[in-house]
Amino acid sequence: MKSSARDTPMMRQYRAIKTDHPDAILCYRMGDFYELFLADAELAAPLLDITLTSRDKDKVDPVPMCGFPVHAADQHIKRLAELGHKVAICEQVEDPKAAAGKRLVKREVVEVVTPGLVGDPSGLEAASEVAIAAVTLGMERGEGGGASGLAILEASTGDFRTTSIAADGGKGVPGLLLDELLRVAPRELLCSGEVAELLSSLLESRMPETVITRVDRASFEPDLAPAQPEGFDPADSGAEIRAAAALISYLGINQPFALAHAPRLRGYRLGDTMLLDEATRTHLELFQNNEDRGRRGTLLESIDWSSSPLGARRVAQWMRYPLLLPEEIRDRQDGVAYLAERDRPRAKLRDALRLVRDLERILTRAVRPTTTPRDLGALRSSLLALPKVCDTLVETCSSSSAESLPSSEETDWIPGSQSLPRAITLPELPQDLAQLLSEALIDDPPTVARGSRGANETGYIRAGFRPELDVLRDGAAKGREWIAGLEAKERDRTGIANLKVKYHPVHGYSLEVSKTQLARVPEDYERKQTLANVERFTTPELSEVQGEVMGANERAAAMEREVLESVRVAVAREAARVRRAADAVANLDALASLAEVARREGWVRPIVDDGDRLEIRSGRHPVVEAMLGRVGSEGFVPNDSDLDAGDTQILLLTGPNMSGKSTYLRQVALIVLLAQMGSFVPAESARIGVVDRIFTRVGASDRLSRGESTFMVEMRETAEILAGASRRSLIILDEIGRGTSTFDGLSIAWAVVEYLHDTPGLSARTLFATHYHELTDLARTKSRVKNGHFEAKEWGEEVVFLRRLVTGGASRSYGIQVARLAGLPDKVISRARQILKNLEGGELDPQGVPRLAREAEGAAGGADQLAFALDALDAPSRRAGEEDEILGELRALDANETTPMEALQILGRLSKRLGEVDEP
Ligand code: ADP
Repeated sequence: MKSSARDTPMMRQYRAIKTDHPDAILCYRMGDFYELFLADAELAAPLLDITLTSRDKDKVDPVPMCGFPVHAADQHIKRLAELGHKVAICEQVEDPKAAAGKRLVKREVVEVVTPGLVGDPSGLEAASEVAIAAVTLGMERGEGGGASGLAILEASTGDFRTTSIAADGGKGVPGLLLDELLRVAPRELLCSGEVAELLSSLLESRMPETVITRVDRASFEPDLAPAQPEGFDPADSGAEIRAAAALISYLGINQPFALAHAPRLRGYRLGDTMLLDEATRTHLELFQNNEDRGRRGTLLESIDWSSSPLGARRVAQWMRYPLLLPEEIRDRQDGVAYLAERDRPRAKLRDALRLVRDLERILTRAVRPTTTPRDLGALRSSLLALPKVCDTLVETCSSSSAESLPSSEETDWIPGSQSLPRAITLPELPQDLAQLLSEALIDDPPTVARGSRGANETGYIRAGFRPELDVLRDGAAKGREWIAGLEAKERDRTGIANLKVKYHPVHGYSLEVSKTQLARVPEDYERKQTLANVERFTTPELSEVQGEVMGANERAAAMEREVLESVRVAVAREAARVRRAADAVANLDALASLAEVARREGWVRPIVDDGDRLEIRSGRHPVVEAMLGRVGSEGFVPNDSDLDAGDTQILLLTGPNMSGKSTYLRQVALIVLLAQMGSFVPAESARIGVVDRIFTRVGASDRLSRGESTFMVEMRETAEILAGASRRSLIILDEIGRGTSTFDGLSIAWAVVEYLHDTPGLSARTLFATHYHELTDLARTKSRVKNGHFEAKEWGEEVVFLRRLVTGGASRSYGIQVARLAGLPDKVISRARQILKNLEGGELDPQGVPRLAREAEGAAGGADQLAFALDALDAPSRRAGEEDEILGELRALDANETTPMEALQILGRLSKRLGEVDEP
C-alpha cells in the first residue's frame, strides 16, 4: 500500500510551523532552497512565475510544491511583499550534520517580511521610503472628540515618528489625518478591525497600494509593548504613543531581532510644517509627473543633485515637509549659502559624500541575523568614508575660495564667513566600529548565502583576528599540503604514472587509478569506489589526514560564523551612533544638493519672514525654464509677483489659453515651497511671508478613474479650500468652474472670489486664473481684487503671446482668433464676433455696475443650471409682466439640450431685454 505524502515527519514539522503563521507564505529552508508547500505553493508559483510541482509523486496525495534557491531568495521575497503578502522565513537552526540521519533538522521562523517591513532594502529606489504606519482613531475609545494617533516607521532607514491629530468635529476619519496618510503613503497600515472597516473604502480609491493589516486592540496598549525605544514612554496613554505601541508590537511579532536596536521615536506636529495635500502635490508635479507618474519633469528631479541616496531621501523629505518658522528656514539657508559660496570645496565634498553610499540601509542589512560578510564589508566602506567627509568640510573653513554671494537676508551667520553655520554638523565617526570591521573581515568579503550552515564558505575572517581560528586553519593547511604532495609520492612508490589525487565533496579525497593499471595497486590501498574506467582507493594514512582536514575546516567554519555573529552584535549595539552619523551626512548632502542647483541655475536666497506679503522679482518656473532653455529671446520670460493680504490679496489673471497663466501660477507656488524648504529660488530676488498651506486646484483635472465626475472632484477640492484656508495660506486656483456649464461655472467662480475676499480674517493670498473675462469686473467692487493678464499682440488676425504679466484685465480673450487659427469656417468666426459684441455690450448695467455683481433677493432657486444665471440677473427691478415672460421662456428651456454657446446667446438676449426693461 502506498503511504500518504502528507504524513511524513517533515510535513508534520512543516504543518506545526505553519500553524503559527497562518496568514504568511511560509518559505521552508531545505539545504540550498526555500520550499513552499500546499496552498502557499499554489498561491506563490504563478506570482513568482516558477514551476509548481509536487513532492513524493509516487505516494498517495502528493504535496503541491514550488521553491527557489537561497541565493535568489531576496528578490522573490521582496516581490511577494510588494504584492501585499506576508512572507515567513523558516531556517534550519542547527547544523544538518548534527542531526544526520537520526532525526529531522530543527527549523524556526526567524523573520516575517510584510509589505511595510521589507527586510531587504537593497532593491528599493533610493529616494523612496517604504513606510509602515499604525493609526488609532479617537472614536475607538468611545471618545467622540478624542485625538487620533498616527505612528510611522520607515524600517529600512529607521525613521520612527509619531503624531496626534485633534478631532475635527466631523464623524470618522479627521481630514488632516487622511491628508497625512496620503502624504506618507505607507505600504502597510496597522489598525483595529473597526478602523479598518472605516478606512478600507477610503484607502482603496485614494491609496490603492496600501495594504491594511488588522491588529488586535491589545497591541495599542503602551504598557504591553515588547520594547521601549528611546522616546517611548509606556506610561503615556496619548493617542500617538498608542499608535507607536502598535508598531512596536508588530515589529516584535515579525522581526523580533530588530527590537534590540529599535530606532528612537520622535514626536512631530502637523502644525510645525507646511501642509501639502494630495491635490497640491499632484497639480504642482512635486514628486511625480502627471504623464507617467515618473520623476521626469518634477520639482524633485530639478533640485535633487545629491551624491548619495541619503541625501536624495533627505531632499525629498524636506520637500514633503516645508518649514514654517523663519529662524529654522534661515538656518537651512545659511547651510546652503555656505556651500554655494564654495564651488571647489563643494565639489570635493560631494565626491566624499558619494563614497558613504546608503549608510542607513546598509546598516539595516548589517544588523539582521541573516547578515553576510559582504553586508558588513559594505558598512565598513561607508564608515571609512566618513573621515574624508569631515576633512573636506573642515577644509572648507580654511578655504580662501569662498565667494560672497549677494544676499538681502539679515542673518546672524555672516555670508562668506569661515565658521560653519548651524545647519552643518560634522558626522560622528564611529571609528572603533570601523576598526573592528577592518580587523575582523578580509578586504573583499564574499556574500555567503543567507543563514548558510555549509562548511565550505569560509575564509572571510581576517587572519590574526582570532588566534584559535588561525590554529585550525594552519592544521587544515598542513593536511592539504601533505595531500597535495601525495600524488607525486604515490606515483613514485607504485610506478602508476597516471595516478591522481581526487577530491569529491561527499566522498572526500581518494587515489584514482585507471583499470589498466590495477595490477600495480599496493596492499595497503582500500577500495572506495568503482567507476567505468577507474577505481578509487584510500589508505589509512590518507583517511586520517582527511579526517583532520575536514574536521578543522568544519570547526573553522563554525568559528567564523561565531565571529561574524559577534561582530554583528557589536554593530547592532552601536546602531544608534551609526544612524546619527548617517543623519548628519543626509543633511549635509541635501544642503550640498540645494547649493549645487542654486549655483547651476543662478538662484537667489529669498527673504522669508512672518509678514503677509509675497514679492518676487523676475521669478521663473524651475522646470519649464529648464525645458525651454535659459532666459533669452526664445527662452523663459521671467515675471514679477506682488501679493499682499492687505492690498493685492487676490490677483485675477484673465486672458486666452496658451498665454502662460498656469505656468505662472505654478511658478509662484513652487518658489514659495522652495523658499520654505530652505532652498534658494529661481528669481532675481524674493521676499516671502511664510505660507502655512499651499492649496492648488486645477479645473477639470481628469480623475475619472476614481469614478467621480471631474466637476465633482473640482468642487470637492474647492470646498476643502474654503473650509481649510487661513490668513496665511496661498491659494492657487486655475480655471475652476470649468467642468460645468458656462453660467454655473462663472457664477461659482465669482462667488468663490467674493468669499475669499469678504470672509473676515481669511484674506488668504490668492492667484486665480480664469478664462471668464467677466470676472475682471470684480475689481470694481472688491478693493483687494486686482486684475492682471498676459500680454498678447495682434498682428492683423494673428495673435502673439509675449508671456509678460501686466496689470489690468485682458482687453480681449482672443478665443475667436485662436478658433480661427484652429480652422473654424469664416462664417462661424464672423458670427461669433457679432455675438461677442452683443454679450460684451450687456455686461454693465446702466449705472455702470457689473450685472453679475448684484445680489439677488431671497434664496437661490433650484439646481436648474439656468436658475443660477437668473439669480445673477437683476431680479428686483424687473417689471412683473416682463419677468413672467422671461421666466416662462426659461422654464420652457431644456437645459440638457442646450449647448453652452446657445445658452450664452439666450443669456445675452434676455439680459439685453432686461436692460431695456430697466430703462425708464
Ligand atoms: P495657459 O494656462 O494660459 O493656457 P500655459 O501656462 O499652459 O498657458 O502656457 C502655455 C505654454 O507657454 C507652455 O507650454 C509654456 O511652454 C509656455 N510658457 C508659459 N509661460 C512662459 C514664460 N514665462 N516664458 C516662456 N514660455 C512660457
